[in-house]
Amino acid sequence: MKTLPTLEAICRACGGTFSHPSLGDFSYGEAVLCSVDGKGYATADAFSAAARHVRSTLATDDGRAFWTALAALADPMDGAALTATIRCPHCGSGDLASWGGRTTGTRDVPEARFDSDLFTPAVDRARR
Ligand SMILES: [Zn+2]
Repeated sequence: MKTLPTLEAICRACGGTFSHPSLGDFSYGEAVLCSVDGKGYATADAFSAAARHVRSTLATDDGRAFWTALAALADPMDGAALTATIRCPHCGSGDLASWGGRTTGTRDVPEARFDSDLFTPAVDRARR
């Protein structure tokens, strides 16, 4: 769990204002994932076992493709899949009018989980 500052975002689709956690400008190798309904957040590490697996399957080293794939494979939060984009908690839109405005507070953000068998080596699975 990390305590991250939250920054103000404004949704273009519904005009709603909300707070989204930010790792700041020096977040190499880490990203905040967001649930598709905009209500949950999790941090992901680019050097975890799951991340290395994703990187090894991508034909590109494009960062956006990497985070998009990693987010899609993370365990859902409260039944909602994760995405690498910021989603509005009011309407679920990813279309923002602004992001990164004033600091609005802090939020405790857990690490994304990857409990899928996809990321458990067969030898570990056999031991269960
Ligand atoms: Zn909205």
